[in-house]
Amino acid sequence: MAVMRGNDQGLTSEVAIVGGGPVGLMLSLFLDLYGIQSVVFNTETGVRWHPKGNSHNSRTMEHYRRLGISTAIRRLGLPPDHPKDAAYFTRLSAWELARFRMPSEIEVARLIAAANQTDQIPEPMHRANQMYVEDFLLKHARTRSNITLRFGWQADQFSQNADGVSLTAVCAADSKTETWDAGYLVGCDGGHSAVRHFLGIHYHGYDRLEQAYLGGRMISSHLRAPTLYRDHLGQRRAWVYWVVNPELRITMFALNGTDEFMIFTKPADANAAPDDEAIKHTLYRCIGAEIPVEIISHQPWTAGAALVAERFADRRIMLAGDAVHLFTPTGGFGMNTGVDDAANLAWKLSAVLRGWGGSHLLDSYDIERRPIAVRNTTAARALAKQVGVVEIPAGMEDDSPSGAVQRQEVGAFVSTYLGAQFAPVGVELGARYDGSPIIASNEAAPTDSVVQYIPTSVPGGRAPHVWLGPERSIGGSLFDRLGTGFTLLRLGPNPPPVASLAASAQERGVPLDILDLPDAAARELYGSDLALIRPDQHIAWRGDSSPADAGAVLSRVTGA
Ligand SMILES: Cc1cc2nc3c(=O)[nH]c(=O)nc-3n(C[C@H](O)[C@H](O)[C@H](O)COP(=O)(O)OP(=O)(O)OC[C@H]3O[C@@H](n4cnc5c(N)ncnc54)[C@H](O)[C@@H]3O)c2cc1C
Repeated sequence: MAVMRGNDQGLTSEVAIVGGGPVGLMLSLFLDLYGIQSVVFNTETGVRWHPKGNSHNSRTMEHYRRLGISTAIRRLGLPPDHPKDAAYFTRLSAWELARFRMPSEIEVARLIAAANQTDQIPEPMHRANQMYVEDFLLKHARTRSNITLRFGWQADQFSQNADGVSLTAVCAADSKTETWDAGYLVGCDGGHSAVRHFLGIHYHGYDRLEQAYLGGRMISSHLRAPTLYRDHLGQRRAWVYWVVNPELRITMFALNGTDEFMIFTKPADANAAPDDEAIKHTLYRCIGAEIPVEIISHQPWTAGAALVAERFADRRIMLAGDAVHLFTPTGGFGMNTGVDDAANLAWKLSAVLRGWGGSHLLDSYDIERRPIAVRNTTAARALAKQVGVVEIPAGMEDDSPSGAVQRQEVGAFVSTYLGAQFAPVGVELGARYDGSPIIASNEAAPTDSVVQYIPTSVPGGRAPHVWLGPERSIGGSLFDRLGTGFTLLRLGPNPPPVASLAASAQERGVPLDILDLPDAAARELYGSDLALIRPDQHIAWRGDSSPADAGAVLSRVTGA
């Protein structure tokens, strides 16, 4: 167990987290789930009120579910009946070229209610802007007694030794400083991570992608347009609107379903500051009409990045989220990959702090998560390249037979090639830790895919999902019955005895729940009689009988 030394101010915590964005807040909430105390430092006093990511993918929603907050998060963002479609237009007041249908929240509820027993998506992707969700996470974190929040505090000095870490933070309001000691420190402090710089760790990969659209410097603008729905979008509502014509290309996201939107534009002069009037003018051309518009804020960002840090950890200091991987937003993987980092790291920190995690357990964080960051950044960049190659014929806006043919061709192209970015379920649910030293298996890794998730209990992947009874609500999913430690599933009507594994777990202090799933469908889905599931819901081991050396399996999966 880590020793916290206590400084002159006597401020200590089990884990110190630098950065209270979505990844830092989720890490603190996971740690709280395991009963671990953390202190979170964040430069701003509250949530940054500028829209960013819109997609909380089905894996992130499962993580929210584990924390008991998925239902509340589903209420954020667009109204429940608002379509979540991605629609392509020449201009918002002109021709619609193509539409990917995606279910509204009301339809999501119906789909879940009608799902079959082994449906793999108990928590479908939710579209709600990150700023609404971050606001919720911050308010929720304030209610948890294990979490100390230092918002409005910038952490600026870090040190570590064999016993623990120390950091100093400055309060922006009164320049007061505090020094905290902790067992571990995690930098969730974004792309400019001070913690990563302190460790001397660099990103590797591509920092940009030069192409006509979604490449290089982009501007994201948050705006209010009170008449846009009434006058132009009424019958053609969508979650994201792509405008494609010979003159311009724009992406616009619906935020609240009434009057707020975010648009991405590519400025002609990459070095110029965002200009309200220029953005409004671009919006008018994108609509094909002038309407009342109030620009709320702008944020420049660079599209096309696919950067991954060379290491995710250095002894007692770890990094997660944008601090170790920067994505281009196509596919919506950035925040989601960071939340999955936090899920992977939290149980390992908790196991080590509570004494049942082995001395190699924390090493597995980098080993397991860095390949996923490479996989996901590569997938996002490939999707961005596809978006960039759409050919836009000069006559596609003509009200003529040849214009109609050109519109049909562009519509067919985007329908065929651009759909993967809206349903990348393979990326979402298919992250696997094959070859990790804490996965007890010699089985071959299943095929990886961006667009497809094939459930398998081959150790390393996410535990396949199964509904346990007729109810399709909270409490009815296998994931609602897993413990906060390891869970040993006994599958099928005649499962083997597991007393030796249970005794070995008890001896080592490894928290282990045993869950019987007698149903034939669950046994068939898993293809084995036993499956050992880690606290982050990945399978650590499987077999048809209790392992001959249960202690060796437990040693391996806990990094001893
Ligand atoms: C236009 C756009 C669209 C996107 N769309 C999506 C999407 O659809 N889906 C998706 O998953 N992702 C998306 N992303 C990416 C997503 O926004 C980021 O991946 C996510 O915000 C990363 O979260 P984080 O917590 O790691 O870092 P951040 O959100 O950057 O948070 C870091 C926090 O650390 C704080 N901080 C920094 N330094 C210090 C310090 N020294 N002391 C104290 N605090 C500090 C900062 O103030 C900040 O609050 C998008 C990004 C952009 C720009």
